[in-house]
Amino acid sequence: MRALQHFFKSFLLWELLGGLQLTGRYLFRRKATLQYPEEKTPQSPRFRGLHALRRYPNGEERCIACRLCEAVCPALAITIESGVRADGTRRTTRYEIDLTKCIFCGFCEESCPVDSIVQTRVFEYFGERHGDLVMTKEKLLAVGDRMEAQIAADRAADARYR
Ligand code: SF4
Ligand code: SF4
Repeated sequence: MRALQHFFKSFLLWELLGGLQLTGRYLFRRKATLQYPEEKTPQSPRFRGLHALRRYPNGEERCIACRLCEAVCPALAITIESGVRADGTRRTTRYEIDLTKCIFCGFCEESCPVDSIVQTRVFEYFGERHGDLVMTKEKLLAVGDRMEAQIAADRAADARYR
């Protein structure tokens, strides 16, 4: 009986008609897909993308080389070396994040007492060699300088929901 049923279903192209019916059902529905990169999905202010180091409005870097972010990083992706400046303040002499190790967990951002290391909404970046994906202090500060307006707005929006 099952063999006969199978024969008639195949003969009448039953599965093909079922597939066409499904296609027809979704043809005029609202599309769930986007034409990336021309179209983008909405992003949360908490999006955890490329890292940045921030400065205060007077241009001074926020990071005080406390190394909390380095200690908390589960992927051991952060490397910090520090020194004391002539004015007695402590600052990093080396701050690196290896993006090939990073799992974008956000712990570094959470642990920072001065809002220095943050994750931005930037997710479109690439590297051809390992070194391209090692974010040095200079690169991180440059991202922070470029994205500061967005970072500040996102953190203000996030604070309203806490
Ligand atoms: S996001 Fe997580 S894994 Fe990446 S550097 Fe920060 S703490 Fe480490
Ligand atoms: S980025 Fe923040 S947590 Fe990391 S060393 Fe600097 S001040 Fe400390």
